[in-house]
Amino acid sequence: MHCPFCQSARSRVIDTDHDTRGGVRRRRVCGECSERYSTYERAMKATPFLIKQDGRREDFDREKLERGIRVACAKRPVASADISRLVGEVEARLQDIGKLETSSRVVGDIVIEGLKSLDQIAYIRYAIVYLGLSDLQAVRTEIDRLLA
Ligand SMILES: [Zn+2]
Repeated sequence: MHCPFCQSARSRVIDTDHDTRGGVRRRRVCGECSERYSTYERAMKATPFLIKQDGRREDFDREKLERGIRVACAKRPVASADISRLVGEVEARLQDIGKLETSSRVVGDIVIEGLKSLDQIAYIRYAIVYLGLSDLQAVRTEIDRLLA
């Protein structure tokens, strides 16, 4: 934690507050420039590593997921806030799994499920990539399932 005025890492805690959501606020005085500032500490659930189909392990990348969903929703009447909410839901559900690692399929499944109710065209676009639908027949089967 660095002083927002002079970037010094030296500080002294002069007061500590606990808030109702489990956060801790500390008032500090900078050991370099003597300005006062506060820091806020909050415990967060960890997001598990994702195991891809080829066995590679990767970090959950919120920005990358959001980009993928935005591409699927391009020119569709899907609100930006809905996309952010879906990404937030994926993250929250991953954290609720409470494991060190999980299959990357979990992410795709949640997105697919969310897009299905947001916009069917976006859903099909995402499904083509995520489910690896490689020909028109496969796409048609998916559309038939959606219309059923
Ligand atoms: Zn300072």
